[in-house]
Formats: sequence, C-alpha cells, structure tokens
Amino acid sequence: MKDKIACSGCGLIVHRVDVDEESISVCPRCKTTIESRGMDFSTIIALAFSALILYVPAVSLPLLTAEVGGILEKNSLLTAVGYFFQEGYVLASGVLLFTTVLIPIILILSILTMLIPIHFNRFPYVIKVAYKLFTLFHYWVLFDVYILSMIVASVKLEVTTELLLGSGMTFFLLEFILMFFLLKWFEPYDVWRKIEKSNYRYQ
Ligand SMILES: [Zn+2]
Repeated sequence: MKDKIACSGCGLIVHRVDVDEESISVCPRCKTTIESRGMDFSTIIALAFSALILYVPAVSLPLLTAEVGGILEKNSLLTAVGYFFQEGYVLASGVLLFTTVLIPIILILSILTMLIPIHFNRFPYVIKVAYKLFTLFHYWVLFDVYILSMIVASVKLEVTTELLLGSGMTFFLLEFILMFFLLKWFEPYDVWRKIEKSNYRYQ
C-alpha cells in the first residue's frame, strides 16, 4: 500500500492514515474526505439494482388519485411533470422532473457504472465520469420527498373531494428509503481508493 495519496478534490498529496469504521480523515487544504469506509461494494450493487427496479413503478404508476368534477384523475410523477408544463408552470415542472425523476436515476446509474467494472477488476475511464456525476448530484437526492410532499399538499388544497394515494406512492416511498440507505452506506471515496490501489492509470 502506498503511504501517500492524492486528494480527489484538489490533488494535494497527503499521507495516508488508516481509518476504521468510525473515523474519517480529511484533506487539510480543501476538507474533502480522504479516507473513510463505506459498505462493501457487492451490498451496494445489490441495493442499487433494487432501487433501479423500484424506480420504474415509482415514476410511472399513479401517485395520487383525485376526483375532480366526477372524474377520477390518476397522476404519476411523469404525467404530473407533463401536466405542470402544459399548464404553464415551467419552473415547477422542471424542479419536479429534476429532483424526483432525473436525480435518482443519475445516482443509481452512476453507482452501478462505477462499481460493476470495479467488481470485475476493470477500471475504464467512464468510472471517473460517473464519480464526478455522483459527487455533483448526491446532495440533491433527499430533496425529492420534500418536493413531493409540497405538491401533495398543494393539490390537497385545490381538491375538495377525497384524495387517494395511488400504488405509485408505495413504490416511491420504498425507493426513497432504499436511496437513503444507499447514499448512507456508499462511500464514493472507496472507489477512488480502489483505483489508487490498482495502480491503474486512465487512458
Ligand atoms: Zn484537497
């Protein structure tokens, strides 16, 4: 094992320290985490695949069923995005699309793009792209439940009749819980450490 490592945030060369599960070391210059331990990669891959499977019904099955003028309206996340857009709420439509539809799938796919090649001891350049995407977007993921609850609340104000939660809501909440643990247990720095250890140079 090398006794020095490059910081993934600023490139500063720092001495390695061995960390256990409870401690981390950070870069003295930019405070990026240098060493910390996440869950093993096979567990993370299994979690990410489960999240990917749940993602499909979470965005496409109806989240809410509302009776408007005697007509039952069923709205999934995707149809809600389209509905807001058509009604002229472009910003609301964009925020909904970004936080509840795009961010989760970007994170799931970037984790799988990093970990599956590493699992087979391969280090293609795309790992680096996925690493950047993941670190860029992972702060955003837990916003989706706030956004969704605000939308449910605003719909509730407008609809006087009963509002029923659709089957998509169950999948959405399950996926949210899964994403929470996925992000809690996945330590992106483990990817960087694997690459450093492999002595692999990007081509
Ligand atoms: Zn740094």
